Amino acid sequence: MFSYRHAFHAGNHADVLKHTVLLAVLRHLTQKDTAFTVFDTHAGAGLYRLDGDYAQTSAEAAEGFLKLVASTPPNPVAPILQDYLDMVASFNKAGSHKVYPGSPFIIQSLLRDRDKLKLFELHPTDSKTLTANIAQLEAGRQVAILREDGFEGIKKFLPPPSRRALVLCDPSYELKGDYGRVVTMVADALQRFAIGTYAVWYPIIPRPEAHDLPKKLKTLANKAGKSWLGATLTVKSSKLLQDDAGETIRPGLPASGMFIINPPHTLRASLQLALPQMVATLRQDANATFTLESGG
Ligand code: SAM
Repeated sequence: MFSYRHAFHAGNHADVLKHTVLLAVLRHLTQKDTAFTVFDTHAGAGLYRLDGDYAQTSAEAAEGFLKLVASTPPNPVAPILQDYLDMVASFNKAGSHKVYPGSPFIIQSLLRDRDKLKLFELHPTDSKTLTANIAQLEAGRQVAILREDGFEGIKKFLPPPSRRALVLCDPSYELKGDYGRVVTMVADALQRFAIGTYAVWYPIIPRPEAHDLPKKLKTLANKAGKSWLGATLTVKSSKLLQDDAGETIRPGLPASGMFIINPPHTLRASLQLALPQMVATLRQDANATFTLESGG
């Protein structure tokens, strides 16, 4: 079935971008008293150990979250970046960085009693781990875990009774079809629930489907008359390299993006401060850069 396990990637530069944006959107949702629901269509295992076997195998956090922590902080640190660093720190003992929260735990940490969280995770092992991790929170019916296909499963919940909701769509894109399924899911969801906020993460890799995804989401948002925001973070070149023996080295994920439909109005200004700081800290070569655009 699936071979992707987020534990290999937890805390990498893509998580830094994704989780900083996620947190900023959630903070905005909590500013109003009215209850909201968050749907995480691809939840992962929920909590990760940065000193565990998986993380050691790829050491991606060393070029992501851990690099941010170890760097001399810019003065002043962009507020949403500081918020992200504080949030991850809240899962750890002072000065230690062993635990990295995935999206389910980041979201759950901001819920009020009246808010709800629905987590979809299809991988048998990760959904088991997620269930065990979430059980520790004793959150009762506030958090539901569904071992279902998130692209399909979301449909039955839209529109949510709360009429305020965020949908985080963070597939592994292990299957080429995922790119098309994201677009189909967002198009369908916008018809069911046009005022929801939709946040999609995607990899920026030399592959036509990946290249087209943000363009298709932009077209969807524009056609629906909805505002949108796109942010990308590049840390290095995507060119294939060669080692001394002439073997091709895959460079690893060079860049990723977040595309948000119906974003909070404050998000663009917040990211305008945070993205240059992410680039400055996480850059691996001279190709490091960011983009930030919005419309609608
Ligand atoms: N959102 C998580 C976070 O930020 O911590 C990371 C999620 S990871 C990138 C993607 C997850 O989606 C994997 O755990 C994978 O097993 C799961 N998955 C893959 N296809 C799925 C599907 N169709 N529905 C639900 N989960 C799926």
